[in-house]
Amino acid sequence: MYKKITPEIAARLEKIVGPRNIYYNDQEKMEPYSHDEIFERGYSSMPEAVLKPVTAEEISRIMQLANEEMIPVTPRGAGSGLSGGAVPVFGGIVLSLERMNKILEIDKDNLVVVVEPGVITNDINRALQAEGLFYAGYPMSLESCFIGGNVAENAGGARAVKYGVTGRYVCGLEIVLPTGEIINAGGKRLKDVTGYDLLHLMVGSEGTLGIFSKITLRILPLPGASVSLFVPFKDIKTAVKTAPLVMIETGIVPAAMELMDQKSIEMSTRLLKEKVPCQDEAGSFLLLEIDGSPEQVEHEYNAVADHFLKYEALDVYVANTPSVKERFWSVRRGISDALKAYYPGNIAEDIVVPPATIPQLIEEVERLSREHNLESTSFGHLGDGNIHVHLLPNKEITLEQWYKATTSVLEKLYKTANSLGGTLSGEHGIGHKRKKYMPFFMSEKEISLMKKIKGVFDPNNILNPGKIFD
Ligand SMILES: Cc1cc2nc3c(=O)[nH]c(=O)nc-3n(C[C@H](O)[C@H](O)[C@H](O)COP(=O)(O)OP(=O)(O)OC[C@H]3O[C@@H](n4cnc5c(N)ncnc54)[C@H](O)[C@@H]3O)c2cc1C
Repeated sequence: MYKKITPEIAARLEKIVGPRNIYYNDQEKMEPYSHDEIFERGYSSMPEAVLKPVTAEEISRIMQLANEEMIPVTPRGAGSGLSGGAVPVFGGIVLSLERMNKILEIDKDNLVVVVEPGVITNDINRALQAEGLFYAGYPMSLESCFIGGNVAENAGGARAVKYGVTGRYVCGLEIVLPTGEIINAGGKRLKDVTGYDLLHLMVGSEGTLGIFSKITLRILPLPGASVSLFVPFKDIKTAVKTAPLVMIETGIVPAAMELMDQKSIEMSTRLLKEKVPCQDEAGSFLLLEIDGSPEQVEHEYNAVADHFLKYEALDVYVANTPSVKERFWSVRRGISDALKAYYPGNIAEDIVVPPATIPQLIEEVERLSREHNLESTSFGHLGDGNIHVHLLPNKEITLEQWYKATTSVLEKLYKTANSLGGTLSGEHGIGHKRKKYMPFFMSEKEISLMKKIKGVFDPNNILNPGKIFD
């Protein structure tokens, strides 16, 4: 159904982006664009060409050509995704946004920042900090992922518990459609009910409906102070039962409330050659951030610490200097890399459930791991109910046993998540990896409505085909 990129088509593409910004017939240079950061094997696929446009007009011309010639196009940010979203499963063009990396405007009067899609997420905050402002998005990959990828995945992260996910801050998008037209949704305004909400249809569309070439984000005044709390517990059950109560009993919403079990801490500290307090006695750990005015933070962190001590925390460690805070947060951010290093091929899940049901979810993970004789680890965004369960391969198990056991565990886990009111992915997206599980969570009618929306935007199905659904 799709056409191959012939030398003649490659020459036309080269005319659009210039000879330095196309890789064609160069397997070595194209290899990094054949995969994302999925831990499991079997989710890579080589592109036929990689293009690096630098303007919306160049993207538009590429899309017009690809649409006429029936060539699939896969948009790509930094490739830090965990669902295979940026992998060109049908070959064709990988359209990398890496050169579109400018912060175009910091508009203090309207409290918005206008950026290109290839800006590294944390670079936005570095630029804003000098102006006493901040952008609330905080995915754990913030030092490598691009803001365009965050919008396409509606990325979450540690601060979603207080600040919400990426979509809450996206107020304007310039979008190149699969057919090549350029449209604008939203702008610098914070409210807009003029017709259907095309802006937020695009957020989380995983590069299947359009390519973002310019992004306007809402920003906030930088909180005057922040403190991190590191709280060890004897076991994971005590931590997950106690954590949701903190907001009800103290009336305080932490900016972040992260969970790390024993295994995830052990792996990350080993990789980083670090050690955290109570590492040998504790069975799980919470990492919180409290932010606000200096007086408010002082009052709130004391109240939160008292709460946890009342509910059997082994201790509460207060980190109030940038370097000590960074030590704890780098351990949290290092977990994924450590699991990838020590358990290659592990299966990483992204289940989200209503926060109060996390104890049941964790109980089921432990029960299923025991039943199937599998090692597992659970960590993640406890405050918003989004837990990353990883199933870990071990040497005693054959490939066939591993495949059988993990298939069964995942199906049972999804059933549990569904029965708790949860769903398949909280922030990593469906992409290529999870599409087979969509029918577990969505009705035929719901999936068919999504497919019809895709058809309206992309009649020839050339933009990121094979993602979310077949
Ligand atoms: C160590 C680690 C920690 C992580 N922690 C978090 C976390 O806390 N929270 C979280 O949400 N995610 C997390 N992730 C996953 C990943 O970083 C996010 O999904 C991120 O948003 C992907 O951004 P990217 O630029 O790397 O996108 P890519 O992986 O390149 O692409 C992701 C998807 O976006 C599409 N896309 C990219 N750019 C555009 C564009 N300009 N227009 C249209 N579509 C586009 C692609 O086609 C693809 O479908 C983590 C990943 C790693 C490796």
